[in-house]
Amino acid sequence: MPPFDTIVVGLGGMGSAAAAHLASRGQRVLGVEQFQAAHDRGSSHGKSRVIRLAYFEHPAYVPLLRRAYELWRRLETDTGRRLLQITGGLMIGAPDCDVVSGSLRSAREHGLAHELLDAAEIHRRFPPFTPRQETVAFYESEAGSLFPEEAIRAHLDVAAAHGAHLHFDERVEGWRVTATGTVEVTTSHSQYEAGRLVLAPGSWASALFKVDELPLVVEPQVLYWLEPSGGAAAYAADRFPIYIWDLGDGVQFYGFPADQDGRVKVAFFRSLQKDEAAIRVALAPCLPSLAAGRLVETVSCKYTLTPDHHFVIGSHPDHEQVVIASPCSGHGYKFASVVGEILADLAIDGATHHPIDLFSPTRFRPR
Ligand SMILES: Cc1cc2nc3c(=O)[nH]c(=O)nc-3n(C[C@H](O)[C@H](O)[C@H](O)COP(=O)(O)OP(=O)(O)OC[C@H]3O[C@@H](n4cnc5c(N)ncnc54)[C@H](O)[C@@H]3O)c2cc1C
Repeated sequence: MPPFDTIVVGLGGMGSAAAAHLASRGQRVLGVEQFQAAHDRGSSHGKSRVIRLAYFEHPAYVPLLRRAYELWRRLETDTGRRLLQITGGLMIGAPDCDVVSGSLRSAREHGLAHELLDAAEIHRRFPPFTPRQETVAFYESEAGSLFPEEAIRAHLDVAAAHGAHLHFDERVEGWRVTATGTVEVTTSHSQYEAGRLVLAPGSWASALFKVDELPLVVEPQVLYWLEPSGGAAAYAADRFPIYIWDLGDGVQFYGFPADQDGRVKVAFFRSLQKDEAAIRVALAPCLPSLAAGRLVETVSCKYTLTPDHHFVIGSHPDHEQVVIASPCSGHGYKFASVVGEILADLAIDGATHHPIDLFSPTRFRPR
């Protein structure tokens, strides 16, 4: 019998969650991470991530989100770490834009509580927003922020508490399936053998997955922190929600309430526009006090995009012992808790009851 049941490669958002779920189900787990825990060179740093239940990208995500919320809350209780800040969330734009109409569709399909606000009501409830008259917003009280670095540490705490071996500053150079059906992993330090392999390498996926016709594009995205002109009081988390604003022509930006230091984070969503001037131009008609704010920090973070912007999660098409995960396309973090559960299901049982058909690793192959 190999010394480990499962090796998890990459201990970022998804790998840390997989290690936690596997170890807490009694698996002998080795986790290997090329950098330190909760580092800032991948896709899971920058202090906050949007979490929301109504899902404009596709209603099929909603059952996963229900479970993700449940697991995040359980993780908070189990570790004593604060991971969620529920503030409510606005999806803003023209009534027929994807962000508004897609959120409504998923809310109606899954019976999710929501309100539809007109421009005057948006401004009345949340004064920093100055929408044009024809703008509307889908409001959901369950939405908020998730703290990704804390969440990674929480998952690693759980994994370690259940006996997982967690190796940092160790790079996986390659892997192969042996003649006896086990998996051998070669790292910068050593070689390890296990019954199963979970690959959760984030933006390094193309180098490790070894799956043909799985086009993954890595794109740096910039996060901006501004101090609003006139102060951050109106942006405090007890009165200001997370939001995604669809300006049309493929331009969307999103943002968060002020942090403890009065800094307000904002970024483009899957946009090729990346400079400070462009974000100020986008903000000017929508959040003028933020557009005029002082820039205090910028951070770059990597998206790993699929052509349809849905995730990649499943068993490796050529090796049943190997499970691959690239749940990104700029919207994966909120799912990390349930993705950990799914990856553990796939590694242990070869199947999961969660709906993951949308995420098939072979869907881009010609039919
Ligand atoms: C700017 C930005 C904003 C985002 N906003 C949101 C949001 O608001 N809401 C949301 O839900 N999602 C959001 N996302 C998406 C979300 O953050 C990602 O889906 C998620 O972080 C992906 O996690 P991961 O585990 O795949 O990648 P990572 O967390 O990067 O983990 C991969 C890990 O694998 C390690 N690794 C790679 N190769 C090797 C190797 N050879 N050997 C050892 N270790 C290796 C890496 O070092 C890394 O730690 C955003 C992403 C970005 C970049």
